[in-house]
Amino acid sequence: MTLSGEVLKSRFAGALVGTGIGDALGAPFEGRRMVSPEEIEAVAGRREALTYTDDTHMTIGLAESLLRSRGFDADDLVQTFMANYDLEPYRGYGPGPPRLFRLVRAGTPWRKAALELYRGGSYGNGSAMRAAPIGVFYYDDLETLRDVAWRSSETTHAHRLGREGAALQACAVALATGLEPGAAFDRDAFLSGLSGFAPEGIYREKLDGIRGLPTEPDTAGVAGELGNGIEAFNSVPAAIFSFLAHPDSFAQAVLYAISLGGDTDTIGAMTGAISGAYLGIGAIPDRWKNKLENRHYMEQLGERLWEMKGQDR
Ligand SMILES: [Mg+2]
Repeated sequence: MTLSGEVLKSRFAGALVGTGIGDALGAPFEGRRMVSPEEIEAVAGRREALTYTDDTHMTIGLAESLLRSRGFDADDLVQTFMANYDLEPYRGYGPGPPRLFRLVRAGTPWRKAALELYRGGSYGNGSAMRAAPIGVFYYDDLETLRDVAWRSSETTHAHRLGREGAALQACAVALATGLEPGAAFDRDAFLSGLSGFAPEGIYREKLDGIRGLPTEPDTAGVAGELGNGIEAFNSVPAAIFSFLAHPDSFAQAVLYAISLGGDTDTIGAMTGAISGAYLGIGAIPDRWKNKLENRHYMEQLGERLWEMKGQDR
């Protein structure tokens, strides 16, 4: 199946803006046990602007670096992350990135710094949360996508489980980007695609766990079974489930993801990326889109990635 340029362009933009919306909607509830969709809507409705956090800030950096380097370049990515952090350090970064950036600035090669920061590297969700640009740009080549997702992860989250989480999230965005628009969503086929991509181990087990969960979701059960925390393996599966629970509604998927509690901005961002990649930017409600900080810039980044992909053919 060949997707039209307009569909793809909308999906590339949707993955980026979807990340920003999920992040911004989820940010006020980080660390909560559970939240009702009504409360999330109410808080978003009261805010003048929807501001995003490190998840989106690093997603923007990754897209900028892919565009500047015309593909993936780890050194450029690290420099981009550092420059962006210096400009906007208030984006709610965890303790890892600033420490890493300090080490690199003091002369430690980033590869060494990323391994030293947490013994054996971090398996936090920081490289999965920013994976949307990789997911859309390499959507039709999953082996290159895996390679790039791993190398992107190695710059900050070098542990195998961090790399695998980033690759799985990128794969979910990629599969969503490549689906036929308007056709009935095939949950089993989507899950099989992900299982076939994930190496054996915890991610494959969690994907099997998703199969066993009821489609009429009970949030406490989902959070207990799949996790809702800051580790990549405790957040990527929850985002995938949230998308699968509401494949045809961006709003419901993202509200559901945040309602799980825990690392709400990141799980919201990852769900927004997958859903935005499938449904396109037009499916993201205006009431949120119009309030999202730097939304036009994110939309442009998605569109420019789409254009670059066309040129490189
Ligand atoms: Mg965040």
